[in-house]
Amino acid sequence: MASLVDQLSEVVGGAHVLTEADMVAPYCRDWTGRWGGPAAGVVRPASTAEVGAVLETCRRNGTPIVVQGGNTGLVGGGVPASATAERPGRPPLILSTTRMRGLEPVDTTCWQVTAGAGVTLAAVQEAAGASGLAFGVDLAARGSATIGGMVATNAGGIHVLRYGAMRQQVVGVEAVLGDGRVVSRLDGLLKDNSGYDLSQLMVGSEGTLGIITAARLRLLPASPERAVALLGVASTAEAVRALAELREMTEGLDAAEIFYQDGLDLVCRHFHLPPPLNTAFPVYLLVECAGRVRVADALVDALGVMGVDEHSTAIGVEPSSAARLWAYRELHTDAVASLGVPHKLDVSVRVDMLAELEQAVRRSVRRVAPEATLVMWGHVGDGNLHVNVIGPPAGDDTVDVAVLELAVSLGGSISAEHGIGRAKLAQLALVRSDDERSAMRSIKRALDPAGVLNPGVLLPA
Ligand SMILES: Cc1cc2nc3c(=O)[nH]c(=O)nc-3n(C[C@H](O)[C@H](O)[C@H](O)COP(=O)(O)OP(=O)(O)OC[C@H]3O[C@@H](n4cnc5c(N)ncnc54)[C@H](O)[C@@H]3O)c2cc1C
Repeated sequence: MASLVDQLSEVVGGAHVLTEADMVAPYCRDWTGRWGGPAAGVVRPASTAEVGAVLETCRRNGTPIVVQGGNTGLVGGGVPASATAERPGRPPLILSTTRMRGLEPVDTTCWQVTAGAGVTLAAVQEAAGASGLAFGVDLAARGSATIGGMVATNAGGIHVLRYGAMRQQVVGVEAVLGDGRVVSRLDGLLKDNSGYDLSQLMVGSEGTLGIITAARLRLLPASPERAVALLGVASTAEAVRALAELREMTEGLDAAEIFYQDGLDLVCRHFHLPPPLNTAFPVYLLVECAGRVRVADALVDALGVMGVDEHSTAIGVEPSSAARLWAYRELHTDAVASLGVPHKLDVSVRVDMLAELEQAVRRSVRRVAPEATLVMWGHVGDGNLHVNVIGPPAGDDTVDVAVLELAVSLGGSISAEHGIGRAKLAQLALVRSDDERSAMRSIKRALDPAGVLNPGVLLPA
């Protein structure tokens, strides 16, 4: 009988089945460096039919599949389990969607576009922009994160405040389910109440139910005018209050981000940047307004009414000055990665609880990991804090458990936007009841009865 590699080569061509260790290695470790393990190889199908044939081959051979897009996920869902994790059976094959880069012309009548699973966010943004439109989700990993991965994780990012997360942008999805059936809802219908919404079931399923091959995405009118303000404030509570006032006084507020002096110092040191303001503040609130006219004037007027003075504010209206202010926020992830392998916790609470969460996280991390470096930032309008702890060994999850339990004790979630992946599998029961997890397992069994897709991600293998 032909080997698995031979069978896969028949499907996708020998050049797209990678088995040499140095070719496979980059696919086996995640962006943070914390998660990863051995794989049998990497296969790169180019079409839905090839995805179906790869899946069928793996099911026949009893080989599990790990689905991978841009490999920018932060919870270990797109890479194999570590060699020390309990892994019954054979090492998985990584199915990379990077060759599924088909991007149809933008439909300027319906304001939609169909993108292959491997198309990057940046490519969708560029295509939409060239047609005078925009895409509602944006995040710092835009150059690598793929549409398939973003649908699979229901990615959030900086514009959730105004446009919602990935779920709100998905009109329809095409996917090969774990048992080989194909679901294809790319017709662009905005109204279609004809049964279960299988496309939305794929959103946030983290590669456990089906392999997304394409998505039909909603686009928005472009906002030619944009203005950014960076405000230094005394506390998280003050940032939340300032945001509430700005929401009342401005139209088109499309981002509200928070970070802290220690994170800003790290960014400035690591990237050799001057501080954004002449005075240091404990907390920084970065807001962006976007629209067709008078955006900057409206933002400046609102800040004036709030009594914000020039020492505590920087405004960016020109694209270059706006980008300069955004860089202080967006470079946090890379700056933290330069310190070592971070423990990344992505928690959310109701916005009015954010200040309490921030203080409680500081106390908790000091208690369980007194030597660790803690850097936080987040999407303040969504009640979402990214908690990064550097110091404890990658395999020690004491600090992870402490922060996740804390968020739950404040009525929050253990995953605001990154998903459960392998990282938070053990904590799912903190936020999903026995009945809910049992219903999730039933859905998994119905669509992927052999358990071939992403075993050990989101649900136990
Ligand atoms: C610098 C940086 C900033 C980030 N900022 C944000 C942010 O603001 N908001 C946010 O939500 N996330 C953020 N992320 C996380 C990450 O970019 C998102 O989770 C993104 O959606 C992952 O896309 P990907 O293509 O890299 O997916 P991968 O990392 O390859 O995979 C992620 C998950 O999706 C599954 N998957 C991938 N492709 C498919 C497919 N075609 N079909 C089915 N399952 C699939 C994988 O199995 C895995 O479980 C950031 C990451 C980095 C590195």
